[in-house]
Amino acid sequence: MSFPTGKVNVCQIIQTIQGEGKYAGYPVILIRVCGCNLKCPFCDTKDLMYTANYTTYTPKELAECINHTIKTTGINHLLITGGEPLLYRTELIDFLDICDANFIEIETNGTLLSNKYISFLIHMLRYKQPKIVFNISPKSNNFDNFVFQCRGSFVEYCYKLVVDTNNLDKERNRILAAKKCFTDDPIYLMPMTKPDETIETLVEKLRKLEEFCRDVNLPLTSRLHMFLYDNANETNYSYI
Ligand code: SF4
Repeated sequence: MSFPTGKVNVCQIIQTIQGEGKYAGYPVILIRVCGCNLKCPFCDTKDLMYTANYTTYTPKELAECINHTIKTTGINHLLITGGEPLLYRTELIDFLDICDANFIEIETNGTLLSNKYISFLIHMLRYKQPKIVFNISPKSNNFDNFVFQCRGSFVEYCYKLVVDTNNLDKERNRILAAKKCFTDDPIYLMPMTKPDETIETLVEKLRKLEEFCRDVNLPLTSRLHMFLYDNANETNYSYI
């Protein structure tokens, strides 16, 4: 897969719900971009994000497609996920500048996010000021690298930490270190899952994690979409 400058490789545009975090349950238009700069062994989207079946859009073409969908569905909450959306960070700003969505969540591993980029985004979108939320899911334990400054602007962020429920004793120190580092910023814990996870296994993991969340005093987030949709068959949500 090549990554042409000025274009975005998109493997999915669907009408669905946000499955995780503060806005879980909200109807969204989801854009899944191709590719990631990391190779996490537990990645549950690698088959989706490295599909041969993707479409390449310019930011203008993508905005036209999404603006049409906003008009026809009435949903103006956009969820941009991947893969890693910030592989396309320049194109993303060009897209957001002409996109009609007024609530945009961007899911990222945080490695390509910086205070400079956030300032640039705020500057470029200063006349529109859509609500923008970065859902940052750090995959390394150097949490200091993932502390950003955007309080008081139209850009929010929260952290979603994936927890291995088979190693909770080991995970405890890591999560407490994150809590110390991220101080007052919202942190959600969610279970590490596989793409073909059964609902029974997911429930079992959530129960273990719920107890852990009470112990470390942090909120649990489910992965609602995994209860509702069959990833393998791509059923129950609507393709656009
Ligand atoms: S950062 Fe996310 S999308 Fe990228 S490889 Fe890791 S789990 Fe997969």
